[in-house]
Amino acid sequence: MSHDDCIFCKIIAGEIPSAKVYEDEHVFAFLDISQVSKGHTLVIPKQHARNIYDTPADIASELFARVPKIANAIKVAYQPDGLNILVNNEAPADQSVFHLHIHLLPKYENAEGYSSNWITHQDEYTADDLQNIAKDISEKIN
Ligand code: AMP
Ligand code: ZN
Repeated sequence: MSHDDCIFCKIIAGEIPSAKVYEDEHVFAFLDISQVSKGHTLVIPKQHARNIYDTPADIASELFARVPKIANAIKVAYQPDGLNILVNNEAPADQSVFHLHIHLLPKYENAEGYSSNWITHQDEYTADDLQNIAKDISEKIN
């Protein structure tokens, strides 16, 4: 179902132009206009979902099932040295368009592009701490 005022629903409907990479019954893929690296592609479900929290399992399955073939198409087309896959969920985590999308970010050695820049805190957690955190989360899975 498409949402009024959703730019990605409008792209799926062809109301806003895009550089389409792939389309089938469930999924649409197109170039991210920002092209963080050459071939930077967004893969989105045709059924609107705000982000991963809001996504039924069957839609998530259909969506991710298309990722390997689109990633391989980017690989064959441009021979990147690697590829990052990223989903931002909610504004503090850098989500700016609120229709679920998977970023495919080809990584070219010695070139600008996506960088995760994360800092590890391994030294601050004991094995018991990790067990407790895993328990906190696992208890909430339903
Ligand atoms: P995020 O910050 O994860 O929500 O990513 C949203 C992405 O959508 C950004 O990387 C934008 O460059 C991209 N974007 C926004 N509008 C368009 C558009 N009309 N066509 C293609 N990509 C877009
Ligand atoms: Zn939408």
